[in-house]
Amino acid sequence: MKALTFHGDRTVRYESIADPTLQDPADALVKVKLCAICGSDLHVYHGREQGCDHATAMGHEFVGKVVEVGKDVDRLKVGDLVMSPFSTSCGQCEYCLSGLTSRCIHSQLFGWRQHGKGLHGGQAEYVRVPQAEHTLLPIPSTISLEQALLLGDVIPTGYFCAHQADINPGKVYVVVGCGAVGLMTILGAFEQGATTVYAIDTLPERLIFAEAFGAIPIDASVRDPLQVVKAIHSQGADAVMEAVGNNESLQLAYNLVRPGGIISMVGVNTASTLPFSPADAYDKNLTLKVGRCPARFFMQKLLPMVASGKYDYTSIISHRMELRDGVTGYAMFSEKKDKCVKVLLHCS
Ligand SMILES: [Zn+2]
Ligand SMILES: [Zn+2]
Repeated sequence: MKALTFHGDRTVRYESIADPTLQDPADALVKVKLCAICGSDLHVYHGREQGCDHATAMGHEFVGKVVEVGKDVDRLKVGDLVMSPFSTSCGQCEYCLSGLTSRCIHSQLFGWRQHGKGLHGGQAEYVRVPQAEHTLLPIPSTISLEQALLLGDVIPTGYFCAHQADINPGKVYVVVGCGAVGLMTILGAFEQGATTVYAIDTLPERLIFAEAFGAIPIDASVRDPLQVVKAIHSQGADAVMEAVGNNESLQLAYNLVRPGGIISMVGVNTASTLPFSPADAYDKNLTLKVGRCPARFFMQKLLPMVASGKYDYTSIISHRMELRDGVTGYAMFSEKKDKCVKVLLHCS
């Protein structure tokens, strides 16, 4: 089959690799119809996250059709259209049962293989899905394939980022970073009752989305976000949702948050230490909530909201390309060229 494979720093290839096969009775094979490039794929692409085996099929955002199931798979049938979160989960361990599916004891991340172990990703014609009955969710006719694709990561991750920020009407919230996850965080915050959300970025095209979604945009290349927020809310924000995943943004979040406030982080931050000290955290009575979104849990929970059509999630998709053009898609997304926010790849 064809796939977009990892080959070291800034090198993704569109090439043939072995077709996946069922390896366990709980596996399913999915023929990918649509996949996407995620901001966290860029950590691998740029070598910020190291150790991924070369020739691994990249990507963890995909939807497709079931083409084969293991003998233990009863609830999915060949021909079912399915969506998937970015990691697998069993549905039976204490983490899965408590809703923290991202910490399932059997969890594996799509598109990450190290020393020959792990899973190929969804930027490929086919993908093997372990623990398929729980990992996959059939796509109902009430949502589109593109909505289903965004439900695999960015919609739940944004909602979760806002969820961690303990949203209440009348309080002041800031979202740092208006990439796909930051934009979904804005919508998640409003859905959870926020009334005042500031959104910080340096790219005008992303701030236009933030404003369209109801946030107050702050272009950090023009104005100092700290001055803008503190001029109106002298104590700072009640919570800051950091949706970039680096220490520069995290330091800004720390500077923006009021004493007793919350910083919520959902991006993969590859720095080795936090930008602020334990004493800094103490001096603000800071609550730091950080971690991988339990996408499988929120995917199911948020399905009715997505189906309701209340929010125009798919408007953030800036580019629709063929899988074979994915190498160009990576370069464009990585360099934020052509107002790129989210790249979708079709597998025809
Ligand atoms: Zn993703
Ligand atoms: Zn589990």
